[in-house]
This record gives sequence, structure tokens and C-alpha cells, in this order.
Amino acid sequence: MKRQAETEHWTQRKCPVCGKIFYLQDVTLWVYKMRIQHTSTVYFCSWRCLRAEETAGNPHMKSIKRPRVYSPEYLADSRRAVEMRQKGMTYRQIADTMGIKLDKAYKLANMREVNANDG
Ligand SMILES: [Zn+2]
Repeated sequence: MKRQAETEHWTQRKCPVCGKIFYLQDVTLWVYKMRIQHTSTVYFCSWRCLRAEETAGNPHMKSIKRPRVYSPEYLADSRRAVEMRQKGMTYRQIADTMGIKLDKAYKLANMREVNANDG
């Protein structure tokens, strides 16, 4: 009985992949979801089921962009790359200096989050 009270304000969903019934407290905060064209949103019980649907390649499904969370190490690397770029180094030089691939150097040096923080 107590269990029912705890979940009464939660939204019940059924995972379309594994059929598991699960509860969402706030559907807008739920990250394991996909949009079917522009009509409706599908909710998955877990990352595993979301990925299963993604790799199934249903063309009507569009992943909903999840905000990226960067690790402090990644942000520190990015700040270094941005600084080197500001000193006029090429992406190739940045890549060589940091011992990373060229495309990663490009990504790090152009990270919007870091550039925005530097004003
Ligand atoms: Zn599932």
C-alpha cells in the first residue's frame, strides 16, 4: 500500500523495447527518450533500451539531444587548446603538443562552453 502512495504522482510508462513498466517523476527530465518525427515522444526504461532502439535504426525515431556533460579533465584540455589557438597555434600544432588527434584538437579548441566562459 505504501508503495502505491509513493508512486501516485508519477507517470507510468511502458518501455517499448523490453516491456518493463517504470515510473517517471518528471517526463521533461527523463533522458532516455526519443521523438517519433514531431508527433510523440517515446520513453525507455534505461540507457540500454534507448541504445537498442537507436541501433535498430528506425528512421522515424529521432534521438532527443541530451545536454552534454563534460568531465573536468576534458574541460581543462579544452581550455589549454583554446589558449594555444589564441596564441596563434595551428590545430596540427595543438594536436602534436597535446598528443591527441587533429580532429580532437579542433573540437577542444572550438568548444563553445569553454569559449563562452572565457567571455
Ligand atoms: Zn526497457
